[in-house]
Amino acid sequence: GRAIGVFTSGGDSQGMNSSVRAVVRMGSYLGCKVFYIKEGYQGMVDGGDNIVEATWASSSGIMQRGGTVIGSARCKEFREREGRLRAAENLVIKNITNLVVIGGDGSLTGANLFRQEWAGLLDELLEKGRISQQQRKECSHLNIVGLVGSIDNDFCGTDMTIGADTALHRIVEAVDCIATTASSHQRCFVMEVMGRHCGYLALVGALATEADWVFIPEWPPEDGWEDTLCRKLANERSMGQRLNIILVAEGAVDRKGNPITADMVKKVVTDKLKYDTRVTVLGHVQRGGKPTAFDRILGSRMGAEAVLALMDATPNTPACVCSLDGNQTVRVPLMECVERTQAVQKAMSENNFEEAVRLRGKS
Ligand code: ADP
Repeated sequence: GRAIGVFTSGGDSQGMNSSVRAVVRMGSYLGCKVFYIKEGYQGMVDGGDNIVEATWASSSGIMQRGGTVIGSARCKEFREREGRLRAAENLVIKNITNLVVIGGDGSLTGANLFRQEWAGLLDELLEKGRISQQQRKECSHLNIVGLVGSIDNDFCGTDMTIGADTALHRIVEAVDCIATTASSHQRCFVMEVMGRHCGYLALVGALATEADWVFIPEWPPEDGWEDTLCRKLANERSMGQRLNIILVAEGAVDRKGNPITADMVKKVVTDKLKYDTRVTVLGHVQRGGKPTAFDRILGSRMGAEAVLALMDATPNTPACVCSLDGNQTVRVPLMECVERTQAVQKAMSENNFEEAVRLRGKS
């Protein structure tokens, strides 16, 4: 059977373990050998004990756990050809020519580059005597399939990234907790949530918690928003509402692209309305804890599909990402999605918000 390497890379997200488990199990079921590559690309570059054969038992009891049990890392060396050469050597040693990469757009970009360079890397290893003629022949093609693990739901090409639903639950739980104390003391709470380029968590979190206002990167407020915001808050108070909740995505900006921070919003409310206003930055709580049922199932479905996609891959098929379209599992071209995701980020950084939203929409 073929050998498959599975690894998690970049920022961790809840549900990654479900994907790892499904890759191990679907791979084993189809008669493949599956290897864990620990600590992301770093483990691939370092080799040795970082690349170990997975077993049915070792993939048990991990679905319930947040983060990634096989470790993740950011790896400078993999950005250099020399690092990728070492990574290729370590894979060839174990005869691994199929990879499932679970990560964000950076990790997927690196994987695609690696695949494009593969033949050249192997030629160089052969020339330097680091692999044999036989190994060069047996490992001539590298297949890769990507899965998108990200709490931000910031990837073009899937309706939900693995981990976004759990992060949303963490936000909703936190806002619910804060709402009770805010109500007791008639306070206003400004909560910063994650989302540098993508306001999904803030927007959907606001809808799910009856928040009064939300700031997201894609939709900067009109100039003069300070007065509009305060009028709305005061109006709500006058109708008997005892608390206010405002959500701010970490990447929120105004029309000129200047950041709008939770502290700035607090200052506006305290200066104009004199409300007792507090700031809470949720931070890494959003990455933590048990994955929701949704993320467990999503991760499992995508992991199983990734193995099937590898089995179907030929040297000429472009690398794909397994993703969710509505409630369907689909395969979409990896590079197209990565390029569109990066184009969205570029449009946002140029304050071209309408273009960013257009690019992110389904084509
Ligand atoms: P994410 O996958 O969450 O977007 P990063 O952008 O930090 O996270 O990428 C994770 C890792 O993927 C990096 O540390 C690096 O090892 C690898 N990587 C990212 N971009 C590239 C690239 N253009 N070329 C090679 N490797 C890359």
